[in-house]
Amino acid sequence: MSESSLRLVWVYPDLLSTYGDQGNALVVERRAKQRRVPVTRTDVRSDQPVPTSGDIYLIGGGEDRPQRLAAERLRRDGGLARAVGNGAIVFSVCAGYQILGHEFVNDLGQPEPGLGLLDVVSVRGEGERCVGDVLADIDPRLGLPPLTGFENHQGITHLGPSARPFATTRYGNGNGTGDGTEGAYNDTVFGTYMHGPVMARNPLIADMLIKLALDVKALPPVDDQWYEALRTERIAAASQPA
Ligand code: GLN
Repeated sequence: MSESSLRLVWVYPDLLSTYGDQGNALVVERRAKQRRVPVTRTDVRSDQPVPTSGDIYLIGGGEDRPQRLAAERLRRDGGLARAVGNGAIVFSVCAGYQILGHEFVNDLGQPEPGLGLLDVVSVRGEGERCVGDVLADIDPRLGLPPLTGFENHQGITHLGPSARPFATTRYGNGNGTGDGTEGAYNDTVFGTYMHGPVMARNPLIADMLIKLALDVKALPPVDDQWYEALRTERIAAASQPA
């Protein structure tokens, strides 16, 4: 974090923002402000350079063509990879998650290189699209309550040895590999298939990112009754699918 504020960067809202992923930026901003941590949010369109000075980068989901365009531009730009090299935190959703990996299958059916910031490779699933509510237990090392979210993806993501599963599913597909893993992380780079937006349902993920950015172990508590009501509803929905 700079002397004055937490620098939040939302990457490519013009290409990668589906199912309310913008909510993740809003929740991180709000949770920081509730703790009187000043936040500067920069929304970086895909025709702009990605700044390397951010503390937390958010990258959302997208349909197949915008996903390819985003990957091309992020590779060419290089800013996100440089920021991670400087220790920045990245939280990515679905298409954004696939782009952070080594490779995914693009809208033309071709392998598309990712940024290689997570040791994962995504392929196109042969079966039905993974759509619906998900309930998963987050890696206990991260100290977070169960994850609830909504998934909608055709891609299936395989984790390499240096990527840890972000969570283990109780219900839903997650990475879609059949091994119960959902998402991946490594140091400061996180990926999940959860839309929703995931941080509105799971605000302690936003707190985790803020704590990492501030390098603190705890944040002052905030009133979470609205979030808790939403979480309870979504956990019930995921546990009792229609
Ligand atoms: N296009 C990707 C897939 O279907 C990502 C979809 C998304 O971001 N929702 O796997």
